[in-house]
Amino acid sequence: MSKTLAPHPHTASRLALSELAPGAMQSEIRAMTTECDRIGGINLAQGVCDTPVPAPVEAEALAAIHAGHNIYTRLDGIARLRNAIAAKQQRDYGLRYDPETEVLVASGATAGLHAAAMALLNPGDEVLLFEPFYGYHVATLKSMRVKPVLVPLAEPDWALDTDALHAAITPRTRALILNTPANPSGKVFSRAELEAVAEVARTHDLFVFTDEIYEYFVYDGEKHIAPATLEGMRERTIVMSGFSKTFSVTGWRLGYVTADARWMAALGYFHDLTYVCAPAPLQHGAAAGLEQLPPSFYTQIAADHQSKRERILAALRDAGMEPSIPAGAYYVLASASRLPGKTAAEKARHLLAATGVASVAGSAFFRHGRGENLLRFCFAKKDHDLDEACVRLRRL
Ligand code: PMP
Repeated sequence: MSKTLAPHPHTASRLALSELAPGAMQSEIRAMTTECDRIGGINLAQGVCDTPVPAPVEAEALAAIHAGHNIYTRLDGIARLRNAIAAKQQRDYGLRYDPETEVLVASGATAGLHAAAMALLNPGDEVLLFEPFYGYHVATLKSMRVKPVLVPLAEPDWALDTDALHAAITPRTRALILNTPANPSGKVFSRAELEAVAEVARTHDLFVFTDEIYEYFVYDGEKHIAPATLEGMRERTIVMSGFSKTFSVTGWRLGYVTADARWMAALGYFHDLTYVCAPAPLQHGAAAGLEQLPPSFYTQIAADHQSKRERILAALRDAGMEPSIPAGAYYVLASASRLPGKTAAEKARHLLAATGVASVAGSAFFRHGRGENLLRFCFAKKDHDLDEACVRLRRL
């Protein structure tokens, strides 16, 4: 005889969102992009990087599709790309990673952080992040019930405040996320600052997740310093980077993690669970780029973006929106105090309506109540779009 199930005893419906979902919102960056597309404006909101894809990267990805490299790869990526990534880490920073066990090709640096957090952190753990922060870092931690703890950088030049860093440590602190060069501030941590961070990591035995996606976007003749090269850091540093920015392929969803073999099997497991593998033919394109592009390719990226930086800085100054000068990455935070509106979101919408240039409200990168007088502009745009945006900003 079949048993009749009793109706659900609670008055609330089971057709409900998860506990986490109500706190989740569309990012301000995507919202501005949608609004910008609607009015046909110039999008300096999202870090889309619409500059051309390097020829060997594009050619080998297409060739790989035609050659039938369209099926799942090993969960940590094709050997050719793992080898190329290991060789690059050695060439650029003298860091040795075994391509068999210490390199994970991921579906973007974003997926790399997700896998690393799943593999290494527990609900209730605290992770330190510097403020202004990159929204995905905070949101990814929250989605795993890990608590982001914000450590404010000191204005106006976003210097590391070591007292604030020490004050943020508690017995629950497990890790810190270090983004250098940083989005949105353009801050490049100096060697002295990295030493101070490393000292804290060693003393409190913390993991350091480094987001180095802008490693080649460093200006004024400076060079990226990989935090894992500092004393006692290799074993605890989860290096995250990728091809989105360097090869202008944000839509390919291709990045990587390099870290000590002790952690990598678990990272690979969690990456597999969500992505199975990174896009197979595109892995060949990225490998070709790493293998074939000469050192001058990387110095040229920095030179091109430094020139774009100068142009937007001049336009923002002329528009009366005093910018802070980014030492790296490709964003500028500029003052929005001359724009009408109570919040940065209102100011960004005013600027878009008045000039057709989309930016992002500074509040997207700070705790509640901060960043309301700042807007972020991305300058990784084709020259003619950037120049048109500069003309429009000057008309303000
Ligand atoms: N990290 C930072 C700091 C970024 O600014 C971005 C792009 N906005 C990413 C990661 C995204 O990287 P990927 O496309 O490799 O996921």
